[in-house]
Amino acid sequence: MTATLSEATVLAWLSRSATVLHEQRDFLVELDSEIGDADHGINMDRGFQKVASLLPGLAHEDISAILKKTGMALISTVGGASGPLYGTFFLRAANAASGKQELEHADVVALLRAGIEGIRTLGKAQPGDKTMVDSLQPALEALEQAEANSMALPGALRKAVQAAKEGMTATVAMIARKGRASYLGERSAGHQDPGATSAYFLLKSLLDVFEEQTGKET
Ligand code: ADP
Ligand code: MG
Repeated sequence: MTATLSEATVLAWLSRSATVLHEQRDFLVELDSEIGDADHGINMDRGFQKVASLLPGLAHEDISAILKKTGMALISTVGGASGPLYGTFFLRAANAASGKQELEHADVVALLRAGIEGIRTLGKAQPGDKTMVDSLQPALEALEQAEANSMALPGALRKAVQAAKEGMTATVAMIARKGRASYLGERSAGHQDPGATSAYFLLKSLLDVFEEQTGKET
């Protein structure tokens, strides 16, 4: 069987993300207190609690509509830089998923690519600037590579999440060139980027619900 992401997977992903970001709220606040203004965990938790509250009403919507409403909810409820950036990610992803009843590997690549392009267009961050892009971009590249190697989706997502984790960890050594942390200049080095960390949690949540639904087949 070729595993695909269904509407149910997307709903479960968003719900799991809300749970995980709530659990990680204090950790994300701690990371942001080191190089920002100590609100990233609060921002993400607020945004995804709003998303979670919408999910029961979205059960009969298609994937694109679910992603679009998620993006709109994040833009309207998340203060700070991350709200419009993640909001744009989901709005662009919604466009990429338009008309799809389920997402195959190529669709997941297209969705992630469109979302990251949205973030990069809006925020102007390059890889290496110590932002959420530093976990998202490696994940996209790993997913593309896995697709080129005809790897099935669960295994490909595992590679992507591993790449995101490595990208997140690599932000520790980076000097921030975008966002609030860039005000610190070289003093931003030695701290893990909060947005790269929340982006990892989002991708990890997707992998976890997908593996639960597919029974860890490869
Ligand atoms: P704020 O910085 O406004 O307080 P948050 O604390 O919620 O917003 O989010 C901070 C995170 O947003 C950073 O850790 C970084 O990953 C991400 N970020 C900030 N500016 C940009 C940007 N221009 N492009 C991509 N990501 C960014
Ligand atoms: Mg902040």
